[in-house]
Amino acid sequence: MKGHIAPDKIEEVKRRADIVDLVSEYVTLKKGGKNFLGLCPFHKEKTPSFTVNRDKQIFYCFGCGEGGNVLTFVMKMSDMSFPEAVRHLAGKTGVIIPERVLTRHEKESSSLRNEVSRVNKMAAAYFSKNLFSQAGKEARDYLRKRGIQDEVIKEFGLGYALDGWRHLRDYFEKAGISLKLVNQSGLLIPKANGGGSFYDRFRRRLIFPIEDVGGSVIAFGGRIIGDGEPKYLNTSESPVYIKGRNLYGLNRTKEDIRKRGYAILVEGYFDLITLWASGIRNVIATLGTALTRDHVDLLRRYTSHVVAVFDPDEAGKKALTRSIELFLSGNMHAKCVVLPDGYDPDQYLRTHGKESFMKVIDNAQSLVDYYIENVIGKVATFEEKKDALREAVSFIVHIDNTRERDLFIKRVSEKLGLDQELLTKEVNLTLKAPAGKQADASRERDVDIDIVELSIIHIMLEYPSVVPEIVKKNIFDCFMSADLKSLAVKLADFYAEQGSKGFDASQFIEAIDNEFIRKKLLRMMIDENPYDEKVIDRVTADAMKQVKRKWYKERCRVLKTKIKKAEENDNHELWEKLLEELQRLQKEEKTSL
Ligand SMILES: [Zn+2]
Repeated sequence: MKGHIAPDKIEEVKRRADIVDLVSEYVTLKKGGKNFLGLCPFHKEKTPSFTVNRDKQIFYCFGCGEGGNVLTFVMKMSDMSFPEAVRHLAGKTGVIIPERVLTRHEKESSSLRNEVSRVNKMAAAYFSKNLFSQAGKEARDYLRKRGIQDEVIKEFGLGYALDGWRHLRDYFEKAGISLKLVNQSGLLIPKANGGGSFYDRFRRRLIFPIEDVGGSVIAFGGRIIGDGEPKYLNTSESPVYIKGRNLYGLNRTKEDIRKRGYAILVEGYFDLITLWASGIRNVIATLGTALTRDHVDLLRRYTSHVVAVFDPDEAGKKALTRSIELFLSGNMHAKCVVLPDGYDPDQYLRTHGKESFMKVIDNAQSLVDYYIENVIGKVATFEEKKDALREAVSFIVHIDNTRERDLFIKRVSEKLGLDQELLTKEVNLTLKAPAGKQADASRERDVDIDIVELSIIHIMLEYPSVVPEIVKKNIFDCFMSADLKSLAVKLADFYAEQGSKGFDASQFIEAIDNEFIRKKLLRMMIDENPYDEKVIDRVTADAMKQVKRKWYKERCRVLKTKIKKAEENDNHELWEKLLEELQRLQKEEKTSL
């Protein structure tokens, strides 16, 4: 399903996008031979096995087997559908894909996500306009009081929800947008009496648009102006927004995070914005929700070093304990800062200034050290100790690196005054428990494919000019693997359609249904090409010969078994017939090779 985008537009987008540039937005790449290498954004690793090839416009990870072209990368990275990925790349590369007015039918069939995104974009513009209107003065004053300049307001697209129950609702109704759809974005609340009517979720609130890494508005946060509860309110989950998956600010700060080599993790909108405004730009915020595994995975695409800033209160301490487990299991180097009582980063920065704040950041203690010193180290009673032990074990098992794990065990046992061996035993017991965590090791389905047949397909992809010769030889009929046979036939058709000039191997690979074969081919394509152009004809001829030989051999083997059976059964007539066939086959083999 290509979602109404003309194939030539898709081609144009792919032609203009460059895989190395695109991947570089998320992964730091280094040149190595013909390829570029970096740490895989799709799995946890310490040595780079994520490989990008500019000539072929493909990527492949030798660690997890993920691979594909520019569009696959966008789809995987930003969790987009195919048409969404095309449109996203079109926007980046300046390809204009006509947006048509949606007909009723298209409205139903086009993805809800696109429509919700459109609603969010409109709402963001609407809120922003409000903020700078007469009615937005109160909110503007509030921002000014907090030291936030117009330039920053515009950068973050801040807005204002007017005081009233139906401003946004009326705005969308007037624009001819279905309120049911607007409701899907989480901006409205259905009236309790049903009847399909809605009112505004945000009233008299400062609005923070929440963007994904690609910069699309996916949700909104609102802070009350004046008195009222709750102080902060977010839109509910929607087809484009799942709580705990996004880090606020990341789309604006990812470059700085990569440049500085670490990220400062804070909790709130104002924390992030104040830091940004003061020039500290390698920041991200979790936005009220506790840190999640998704957050850590997202962040690791940009850095493996983080300084997490926690509030000194109970909630902050709890967040710290939970985050340590996530950071450890996510192979992140985490440091932490616990601010003095009564301070959050925003207040601290405004009271003590940037330099002082950065001093605190630079002196951040390793999260593990902090935890051992201040959380585990503070327990007194036997009961507390038992709890601390259980807690410690539950995250020690998440440390992959055995040396680090042993070190951690040693320190925890020292701090708790426990026997080290006992703790090790406890940890090992938990590790061995069938938690179902280590079960997904064999993600590749073992498919029986012939390597020579596969290499013929590989040759066809690398050297499309030899395809006609291969097709002429009818070699596919001799393929033993049914999957590869049908793939080879498809490839020959694809070539016939595209010709050798417009031939785009990455496009063909993308369309391969069999995931195992697709990844295998990507891997072959990204490896250094083993054949020299000059010898390709001979290599091809050899490969075809091998395939034929194998085919004949198999046919002969089957015949010989039948012959033996006929002999055993004294079926002389059949025996003679089969023998004749065998001789004919052997003769045929000689002449054909
Ligand atoms: Zn990988």
